[in-house]
Amino acid sequence: MRWSRAFFSVATRAGVACVASLVCLAGCRGAGESKGVAAAGSSKIDPPPAKTSSATVDPTDPAANASTTSSIDLPPKKAPRLVLHLVPLGDTTTETMTKTADALSSHAPLDVVVETAVAMPKSAESSEKGRYRAEKLLDLLEALPIDADGKHGKIMGVAELDIVTEKNGAKNWGILGLGAIDGRVSVISTYRMKRAFEKGGGAAEPLVRERLWKVSLHELGHTLGLDHCPVKGCIMEDGHGTVKTIDGETALCDSCAAKFTAALPKD
Ligand SMILES: [Zn+2]
Ligand SMILES: [Zn+2]
Repeated sequence: MRWSRAFFSVATRAGVACVASLVCLAGCRGAGESKGVAAAGSSKIDPPPAKTSSATVDPTDPAANASTTSSIDLPPKKAPRLVLHLVPLGDTTTETMTKTADALSSHAPLDVVVETAVAMPKSAESSEKGRYRAEKLLDLLEALPIDADGKHGKIMGVAELDIVTEKNGAKNWGILGLGAIDGRVSVISTYRMKRAFEKGGGAAEPLVRERLWKVSLHELGHTLGLDHCPVKGCIMEDGHGTVKTIDGETALCDSCAAKFTAALPKD
């Protein structure tokens, strides 16, 4: 999928600079929803059952018996798993990369690979110092020579600096993440996860970790083709103007979990 085509289907979890409210370019959730209702189901996605076929010849099969005198056991074929390439953007710390990898691999059946860091490109600088354009970062990630056949791999950039996009007339609308729907690439930033509230001071470490898996799973979900979900408490909810929405999310709802699982690699 080309980014140019994806641009208008990109969804964000965002916060306005200073006001730090969340926004969604896909615009699937209505305003004023109440929060905190747990969705049914679990956020953990069960991996597909391991393939158990064996090359052992069935001794009851006359044809097999007639054509062979020995049987060879081959190891069971391993079910393919989604590979997620995490790319540190700028000076993202090893600790943040480890936390992100742990957050994702403990909530979905993924093989997470941490790639070599990539410097924040000049082309992604916004008009405000220290803030970077998320869509430009997606362009950068898309062009990286990672998993060139792109068969099952997804790529997620991880930044600690503030990332922005244009929204609601604001040129630099701060966001938590951006993902191309049914694309390959997404980007997240821990910058706003570390805020207690939109403007507030530092969020406690457990809360930051909680937001990390919710936001990263949400953006990965977009790349697997999931759009925003109207079920309150679902991880695929539109952030809708406030980081508190993310704090009210608990799990993928049954429907989103089924879609997520269906989008994972098969045999
Ligand atoms: Zn979203
Ligand atoms: Zn859902």
